[in-house]
Amino acid sequence: MLIKNFLTGTPVYYAEERLRRPISFEKSSRKKNDETSESDDGEGCPFCPKNAYMTPTPIFDNGTIKIVPNLYPFISEKEGLGFHDVVIDTPLHNERFAEFSQEHIQMLLEVLAERFLQLEGYEHIKYIQIFKNNGLGAGASQAHSHWQIGAQNFVPPKICYMLDVLKEYSEKTGENYFDSKKAFITLWENSCFALVIPTDSMFTYETHIITKKSRQRLSEFSREELGLLGEALKKQISVYEAYDDRPDYNICVYNAPKGCSDSSFRFFIQLIPRKGNMAGFEFSSGCYINSVSPEACEKIMKGLL
Ligand SMILES: [Zn+2]
Repeated sequence: MLIKNFLTGTPVYYAEERLRRPISFEKSSRKKNDETSESDDGEGCPFCPKNAYMTPTPIFDNGTIKIVPNLYPFISEKEGLGFHDVVIDTPLHNERFAEFSQEHIQMLLEVLAERFLQLEGYEHIKYIQIFKNNGLGAGASQAHSHWQIGAQNFVPPKICYMLDVLKEYSEKTGENYFDSKKAFITLWENSCFALVIPTDSMFTYETHIITKKSRQRLSEFSREELGLLGEALKKQISVYEAYDDRPDYNICVYNAPKGCSDSSFRFFIQLIPRKGNMAGFEFSSGCYINSVSPEACEKIMKGLL
């Protein structure tokens, strides 16, 4: 089956017959052993407090969470292109994000929201991307838990496309896309957020956290609401952890561009467990292959919630 992902316009093949292949989240034991034997005590880790001399002076530090400019930025501050921050979310080298308490996650979200606002204050900054690469397979270069913030001097084309289709959808249907029962399968919800599987998901076992409130950016949520967001985030990461031992995953946080108050767009988080989605076909064609249908994903995820 071939579908078009609504938010990105990307063609996605659902290759359901691939379900008959044994699909396992298990990594090879060799890789696992390599990971555990590698710098367990944080020796030489630039994100451990004992090695703080290895990173630039923190922009923020509350003893638990620290924000530092990235020593190897992809966005050059000198060239006026924006900022590239690293958010070190724990002082403990071996504390994994999945092990954080809900209070710890709430504190992290509050810190991210505050830095988001600060970066929006720079005149040349137009868009702020918050993301987490968890594990080598998800693009992380450091084992110590961290996030990154890329503040750009332009709005990426993907976000412009998203804003356009969301506006068009609202105008045509009179409904907000994020309220659409057809667009998402709900796995779990609290009073402010829902854990959902997009019915046109691009990635195997992909889930989103969407909000029921009309909020366009992380900084618009109250402290209490950030606590509820932390609850949803912890819930879904626990599901991935229950399905796989030490999964590699990306967390992508979507905010409206600076100055955009279009209510057809809403803040959301995309969670992508890395199950070998990106390969030659995707790189060369820009089309994706998802081997687990949203309905099959629902059965697995609901069994683990
Ligand atoms: Zn460390």
